[in-house]
Amino acid sequence: MRYHDLSYWLSTTDDPLTPRPALAGDTDADVVIVGAGYTGLWTAYYLARADPTLRIVILERQVAGYGASGRNGGWCSALLPTSLTGLARRHGRDAAVAMQRAMHDTVREVGRVVTAEGIDCHWSYGGTVVLARSGPQLDRARAAVAEARQFGFGPDDLDLIGSDEATARCAAEGVRAATYTPHCAALHPARLVRGLARAVERLGVSLYERTPVTAIRPGAAVTPTGTVTARVVVRATEGYTPSLPGHRRAIAPVYSLMVATAPLPASTWARIGLAERETFSDHRHVIIYGQRTADGRLAFGGRGAPYHYASRVHPDFDREPRVFAALRRTLGELFPTLGPDVPVTHSWGGPLGVARDWSASVGYDRAAGLAWAGGYVGDGVGSSNLAGRTLADLIRGERTALTRLPWVNHRSPRWEPEPLRWLAINAGLRVMSSADEAESRRNRPSRRAAAFSRLLNP
Ligand SMILES: Cc1cc2nc3c(=O)[nH]c(=O)nc-3n(C[C@H](O)[C@H](O)[C@H](O)COP(=O)(O)OP(=O)(O)OC[C@H]3O[C@@H](n4cnc5c(N)ncnc54)[C@H](O)[C@@H]3O)c2cc1C
Repeated sequence: MRYHDLSYWLSTTDDPLTPRPALAGDTDADVVIVGAGYTGLWTAYYLARADPTLRIVILERQVAGYGASGRNGGWCSALLPTSLTGLARRHGRDAAVAMQRAMHDTVREVGRVVTAEGIDCHWSYGGTVVLARSGPQLDRARAAVAEARQFGFGPDDLDLIGSDEATARCAAEGVRAATYTPHCAALHPARLVRGLARAVERLGVSLYERTPVTAIRPGAAVTPTGTVTARVVVRATEGYTPSLPGHRRAIAPVYSLMVATAPLPASTWARIGLAERETFSDHRHVIIYGQRTADGRLAFGGRGAPYHYASRVHPDFDREPRVFAALRRTLGELFPTLGPDVPVTHSWGGPLGVARDWSASVGYDRAAGLAWAGGYVGDGVGSSNLAGRTLADLIRGERTALTRLPWVNHRSPRWEPEPLRWLAINAGLRVMSSADEAESRRNRPSRRAAAFSRLLNP
């Protein structure tokens, strides 16, 4: 497998992506981490910094950054898959506010570490602009701001901006208004994950690549080439979790796909904007997301690819010509200046992890010595850092503000058995896409989509 072909980002890391040696024989450690994406690496990073005497081993089936961490949209945001209202309903208002504030701090923390560790991941703290391009989208923009205000977050956290200001930031077609938050940085995701892998090695962590874990059990992670015995085993496998015995229904892998244009001329950027490399989206139902890359491309993605029966994950599913064509069309609609045949040089995708109640979680069962984090849906770039810091505190037995956050030890229900899971997830995707089409035709909110959103984001 040529790892460079997995995403535009992995093809531009300035890193040969040569696999590190695989585990060769049994060994023991204090902590063994399964998966070298952001979750596994941030956990190792904070553990090793807090206690340099800990023996930490990471086992990765392919290479660091092979999963979503090497392929995503590069939004290091303060977003969570659960709304503040949903969090407050379950855990109380104060807990919801604390969680959101922790996420705001997390964006700054990632920025601090990439500077401290010299990780050149093209970090740009430009915020996020989410456009409203129809009446129903404008209603949702207003509702998002009203919700933020109810929880005490002011315009410095999330603001409704008028069409002139919104267009000055991102000159898409038909912009009526937008929400803007400063709490997001655009980054090069693969440079971050590969840089983190080098940073943890500098701290003495052992990272074995091309080492698939076939079973996790209290006190051990088992691979075909040896078993790592450890007091603590951390599962950091996100969308790939269902392939582990005993975890088939823990997470549903849902695919998100992306395209990247060729570098665009300065004259085109002068028309589009995104001068501060703001990440951008709009208030439609089926999520789209974009960023202006440091080398002047538009990297643009969206959901809408089908969920595969029995939570299967396969490299063939990374590419879905129908979705790539739709992404190109949407780019052309947003920015007619790009022309109908936007010059696209790269297209790719990957699985993200969705918990049954759309709640990300971090947890540690001290008695069994088993820890996990994930279920971030499409918001794991920032939240995996918070997860890593929190796991480090939990594993070291520290009681901190982080270990009191409401996602700690939250247990999401398991997904339904098949074929129910397949039917429900794919029906949901269809309802949301047809709602977007209907809303843009009729300029009226879709009731079916609203009902479905309430189901998805309780
Ligand atoms: C196309 C796309 C766009 C996205 N855009 C954004 C975005 O802009 N912002 C945002 O916040 N989030 C985004 N996300 C989500 C984000 O990328 C993820 O939430 C995040 O990367 C999850 O990190 P992770 O380390 O938990 O999982 P992963 O990065 O998926 O890492 C899991 C690792 O575990 C390894 N593994 C799995 N099973 C085993 C095993 N049995 N043995 C050994 N190793 C194993 C895998 O090979 C993989 O390397 C996007 C995701 C995708 C796919």
